[in-house]
Amino acid sequence: MIVKIICPKCNTEGRFSLVESSYQGPYRCWKCRELFTIRMENNELKSCEPLSQEEFERQQEIEALKAKFKQTN
Ligand SMILES: [Zn+2]
Repeated sequence: MIVKIICPKCNTEGRFSLVESSYQGPYRCWKCRELFTIRMENNELKSCEPLSQEEFERQQEIEALKAKFKQTN
């Protein structure tokens, strides 16, 4: 599932691939390189908030941990 996301900063349309119909996590605009935390429900964008580089890295770590956890089950 590919969803379109309009960057709140530069209004550029980006594409984001979803595995499930809901998602919460980081998104980076391909054009202005701005980071956001997005929340999707039923393939609709519910919220999009600016994200700092530090917070982005922290979220990436959480995602990596989740992936590890899934593998062990
Ligand atoms: Zn942008």
